Order: sequence, then structure tokens, then C-alpha cells
Amino acid sequence: MHPTQPHHLRHLTLSLLMALTLSTTTYAADTPAPEPAPNTTAPSGVGADNLLISAVAWKQTAAEYRALYYQGYNMARLQLEKALREHKDGDKPLAVVTDLDDTVLLPLAYWGYLINHKQDFFDDAAWDKWIPKNQMVVAPGAAEFLKFAADNKVEVFYVSSRDQGEKTFEYALAQIKAAGLPFADEAHVTILRDTSNKETRQKEIAEKFEVALFLGDNLNDFQRKYYTKDVDERIKLMEEDKNQYGSKYIVFPNPTDGHWVRAIFGESEPPASDANRETFQKAATRNSWDGN
Ligand SMILES: [Mg+2]
Repeated sequence: MHPTQPHHLRHLTLSLLMALTLSTTTYAADTPAPEPAPNTTAPSGVGADNLLISAVAWKQTAAEYRALYYQGYNMARLQLEKALREHKDGDKPLAVVTDLDDTVLLPLAYWGYLINHKQDFFDDAAWDKWIPKNQMVVAPGAAEFLKFAADNKVEVFYVSSRDQGEKTFEYALAQIKAAGLPFADEAHVTILRDTSNKETRQKEIAEKFEVALFLGDNLNDFQRKYYTKDVDERIKLMEEDKNQYGSKYIVFPNPTDGHWVRAIFGESEPPASDANRETFQKAATRNSWDGN
């Protein structure tokens, strides 16, 4: 199952679509165009007009995408320094609670795989097969920030939602260790296999620690109350806590998947279908100029 549990998406501009179409149809007269790989899950929207292309291209190439991680971790450091200054003897020890996927580890190669295989919706089977390969990229700024926390005796707790069977925890722990991140041990790593609800674990940690910061790419990483299927309600709930963002909650960008997808489709991993492509198009035109 996917990390923050939900998923995927896509969007794309006409200009990008046109550019891709042009670039992929220029073959020498005597060179036959390669046959597209067979697609077994989707009836259409699987080539250069793949719904995921724009979002994945951004994740793979945009300096802005990486800068947002630095921005988030720089902000996290400022807030943690403030918490350390204000921390008094007798107070509960400070802690940081962080999500894993798309927060400290970036699954870029997985999304590239989907594009190469003409898939335009999150593919759970491919995700589960890819996770053990450990091709995660450490998010820009993550290692430095978590080391800063460790150096200042602030414990870091990783709380993630994943399910790759019996070895789920083993795979996750190995990735945290391979990334060289601190507190890579059983006491600090929680992998929820059958739920995306992190609240129980967050409360357990908060009993013993003063949680200075929550880090995540999904509002669910901060509070479960945001877990609603209604787009407007979800935005409203977030607005209620607007002062917490950049303060106690540090949010990272994720245009490919998350509970925002669930709010559109009613499920985190909607199947590849033309009906779902239409639903996505409706979401993209929710606010649109009429041309006049
Ligand atoms: Mg995540």
C-alpha cells in the first residue's frame, strides 16, 4: 500500500502535451516508430497525454520542488531552535514527529516507472514491488535538519503508513538507515500497515514528549481531523489551523498523491478508468474562465 495511503494525480497543460507529442513523433522516414508497451489497466490517456506527466516532470526536474524542501526544513530548524530556547528544566523532552514518504524520502524512480509503463494512476502492486529496491532519494535538507535535532537531544519519531507484507517494517527501517538518518531503531520507527490513522501513535509520543514539530506532505500527518472526502470541508479545516503551518506543522509539496486525491475521488487510490479521468478533469476546471 502506498505510504501516506492515498494517492495520485496528475494534471497537465496543453502546451506540455503538445510539446511531448511533437517530440515523440519525430522519426526518420525509414525508422519505424516503436510500438507502445501494452497497457492492461487503462483504456485511454496512457501515452504522452498521461495525466501524471506534468506532476511527475515537476517532481523530477524543478529546482523549485527541491527548494520547497529546503524552505520547509529551514523553517523547521528555526522553530526547533525557538523551542529549545524556551525549553525549561522539568519540561517534557522535545521531540519531532515526521512522516516518511515524500517528507524525508522521495520515491521519484517509482513515478518515473509509472510514466514509462504508460500508467496514469497510482499502482499499488508496482509500489509494493518497488519499495524493497530501496531507490528512495533523501529529501533536500532532511538529513541536515534531523541531525540538528539529534545533536540537540531532540528525539525524532518516524510514523508512516505502508504495507508490503511481513517485511514492511524491515524495508522501512533499512531505508532510514541507508539514508543515514538518526534514530533508526524500533523505538523511533512506527509503520502502520492497516491504517493511515496516525493519531494513536502521535498521542502516545505526546504523552512522554513535547512534540515541537510535525513534518509531512499530507495534512493527515498533522491531525486526523483533516481526513474528509469533501474538498471544501478539507480546505476549511486546514484554514482553522492556518497559524500552525510553518509553525508546528511543516508541510512539503506533493502533486502526485495524498489525501487531496481522496477528497476528489472518494478514495485514495482510484482505479485507472475514463470515468476517473473525467472526474479529474472536473476537479481541474472547478474554477475556470469562460473565455469572455
Ligand atoms: Mg507522505
